[in-house]
Amino acid sequence: MTVHDIRHNISFFRQERPPVYFDNSATTQQPDEVIRAVINFSRYTNANPFRGLYDLSGEATAVYEAARKKVAAFLNISDPRQIVFTRNTTESINLVAECILRTNHSRFRIDPGDRIVVTVSEHHSNLLPWQRLARITGARLVFMEPDSTGLITDAEIESRITDRTKLVAAAHVSNVWGRVNPIDKIILRARSVGALTVIDGAQAVAHMKVDVRNTGCDFYAFSGHKMLGPMGIGVLFGRADLLEQLDPFLSGGEMIEYVTRESATYAPIPHKFEAGTVNAAGAAGLAAACDYIDKIGFDYIKSQVNTLTAEVMNGMREMEGITVYGSRNPSEHNGIVSFSIAGCHPHDVASILNEDHICVRAGHHCAQPLMQFLGIGSCVRCSLYAYNTHREVSRFIDCLSRVRKVMG
Ligand code: PLP
Repeated sequence: MTVHDIRHNISFFRQERPPVYFDNSATTQQPDEVIRAVINFSRYTNANPFRGLYDLSGEATAVYEAARKKVAAFLNISDPRQIVFTRNTTESINLVAECILRTNHSRFRIDPGDRIVVTVSEHHSNLLPWQRLARITGARLVFMEPDSTGLITDAEIESRITDRTKLVAAAHVSNVWGRVNPIDKIILRARSVGALTVIDGAQAVAHMKVDVRNTGCDFYAFSGHKMLGPMGIGVLFGRADLLEQLDPFLSGGEMIEYVTRESATYAPIPHKFEAGTVNAAGAAGLAAACDYIDKIGFDYIKSQVNTLTAEVMNGMREMEGITVYGSRNPSEHNGIVSFSIAGCHPHDVASILNEDHICVRAGHHCAQPLMQFLGIGSCVRCSLYAYNTHREVSRFIDCLSRVRKVMG
């Protein structure tokens, strides 16, 4: 498949004059196959999974469970019981934090003075749940800091993750500068001190083959809508033994085995974490997105994204007053180029680009501690995907070169 085939498969790009969509880190556009999978579920298979004894409910269950198997295979996980469907990355991470709080088991015990270690570049979704866990348990929240290129060094990993560390949470790929964190080293170090590991894969899964089994992490979270899937469906991978030991934080229908007036026994994993009616249409869409990404192939995705990122960064190098955050190497950005223009507020830059129908994100990108670390309040983020084109990049660079003139 080429970029033209992909664009042909996505209605958004078949519009007469589609905007230049460079906000793919926020949400990706959906191929028609994904939309069709969602619609087909709603049209022909719409019944409550697990609940009915009639055939249609069985078919709905089959679609939902097939999606779970598909996602497991996408992550190289052999046991689909380790895939919990959630609404998004945020809910997946909160699920882990809230379940730890509710579980009375030595594996999850966090005492005052213990450490919870994160990186300073985390999205708020992978920070606030740990702030809360630290506040309630009396643990110390400790930050690993990157160097100026966005890299977390071995020394930083060694010194922050100590014997007192009970949990380490880190993004696989930063949503601000696109840098891949050395999660293999982080996980290895965390395991050596007996700490749990939670990896936020929101920005990784659309860009690289994520082999969750090989990473050796305990939990891995991501959202469907950032990998060509629909909104409202997310994933939490959890190691089976840990999921089995954890107490759920949502309770109610469909997550139980047996209920008396006073108590209940929970359903086996993963169902004990999926209380209430599930998003089966969303799961069907996510399964179609996995298929679609497999069809494009990560080699193509990487090469197209890296080529376009290099064009963006080269274009910016020609301009005065632009600071690009993170690595100077385009292939270390995973399509994300965050930047500031001296004397121009990021919101003004985004508004001027918007006048030219170019969609970029401006603000703190839900990563305020990173903004503080960089000494800025906000910046502009252009984020590319495999369906973006050279012509779109030229239009973006042209418009950007006019920003300083427009701003006077
Ligand atoms: N983590 C990272 C690294 C992200 O980039 C985002 C969203 O931008 C999130 C978490 C939150 O994702 P969601 O809003 O889908 O829960």
